[in-house]
Amino acid sequence: MSMRIAIVGLSVEIMLSSPAVTGLASLQLFDPQQMRDNDVWMVRGMLERIAEDSDIEAVPLFWATALPGGIMTAEAYDMVKAKTLDLLSTAGELDGVLVVNHGALEVENLDADADSDFVGAIRALVGPDMPIGVSLDLHGDMTPQLLEAGTVFSVLRTAPHRDDKSTGYRAADQLIKVLRTGIKPKKVAVSLPILIPGETAVTSASPARELYGSLPQFDAVPGMMEANILVGFAWNDRPWTKCTAFAVAEEDASLARSQAVKLAQSIWDAHEQFILRMETAEVAEGLKRALTSPQRPVYVSDSGDNTTAGAAGELTTVLQAALDLGANEDIVVAGITAPEAVSRLVAAGVGAEVELVLGDEHMSRPKTERRVKVRVEACADELDLGGFQPYRSKDAAWAKVRIGNVVATFHAQPIGITTPEHFQAMGIDPVAHKIYVVKLGYLHPRLEDIMARHILLLSDGTSQLDMSRLEWKRLSRPTWPLDRNFEWTPEGNIYGDAS
Ligand SMILES: [Zn+2]
Repeated sequence: MSMRIAIVGLSVEIMLSSPAVTGLASLQLFDPQQMRDNDVWMVRGMLERIAEDSDIEAVPLFWATALPGGIMTAEAYDMVKAKTLDLLSTAGELDGVLVVNHGALEVENLDADADSDFVGAIRALVGPDMPIGVSLDLHGDMTPQLLEAGTVFSVLRTAPHRDDKSTGYRAADQLIKVLRTGIKPKKVAVSLPILIPGETAVTSASPARELYGSLPQFDAVPGMMEANILVGFAWNDRPWTKCTAFAVAEEDASLARSQAVKLAQSIWDAHEQFILRMETAEVAEGLKRALTSPQRPVYVSDSGDNTTAGAAGELTTVLQAALDLGANEDIVVAGITAPEAVSRLVAAGVGAEVELVLGDEHMSRPKTERRVKVRVEACADELDLGGFQPYRSKDAAWAKVRIGNVVATFHAQPIGITTPEHFQAMGIDPVAHKIYVVKLGYLHPRLEDIMARHILLLSDGTSQLDMSRLEWKRLSRPTWPLDRNFEWTPEGNIYGDAS
């Protein structure tokens, strides 16, 4: 008997407070050929698993992603959703569907978790009996509707993320198991009222290391499919913003329940340990420390304006602080969103001297008016990175300028500078300079691999890390760390096949 498994998805992390709205122009769309050829996030692991079984055909249909950003427009969401449903309904006989989403999707005028809406629409189309495997980023949220809509789930287990391929592989493997055996998996989730910004849940440090490290033991319990942890997306003021522990068992609902409760309790027992475990500093102090550090290169992250969490990347606060340092060697400040400056710099061309006003394109924080003379060292209409890169914005114009000992890169659209290739594509050696400022929180794996030291700046901006400074209206309360010393039990926060 031969089987066909479709692969679709809409994977975008949305930060509601970000002014960088995610519209049609922000979307990166992958057709079936691109899904096969471009080493695509999660999809590549699914294709690898399906290829192991000669009687199963992978049917990649359509996948959409975007750099994390502000709320997705209804127009963009409706286009992707309609096209996905249309392709699924005209794909011929299917036996299962794999969905590659993120879990923190938010759409304008949709007063519901959008991942739940998306997977729910697929479920409504294919009917109650077709297995659906869902892969998610661990920074996503779970809801009763999403748990109901999917059949099996696999979630990333590393942050910074190094395991999208194996996560996609696991999702496909679980789906194939369901198809071959005909089992009806039972799913139970327990939600935890705790806000965990990703920087406090790095899986090389406690408590995330031990909690994520325990998951294979849950998976290995006879009768279990998988247990997973979603730390949630802490910055969004939504009722469904929570941490979730959930377990899927082959057929035994009481096993799923006991495993989900056990996992949730272990998270709750450790919740006060979700704090920053990396070197941190206020902006000026952190730059000074980097400059005088015996190590090089020092990578410094502007955590308040983290484009890979959805911030717009337009703040020049750290660039201005770098100019104030009066350093006697180069400091690279990369990845600033400034469309108007870029169009002037590109028009002026390499070698030109241009006067810029730093801060006049600020959106999420007050504008500033610092006038500087810059020399254009390089510029182009697009940044050619080749192939699939997570956290890449669509190709956009950019310019590299020099201001004394500071080298800055400006971009027409938000960009996540996450790999050495990003620097090399702009003619910047990613290790030869003393300091590199990037708009990230934790360092992404490829930069982690080349830095000698990392300092996280506790800078202001939409992705700033002090949750108590944000305005909360719709979040359910009590929630730690906004509220402390309250009672919580797994039994009071359980849903799914739990009765
Ligand atoms: Zn993530």
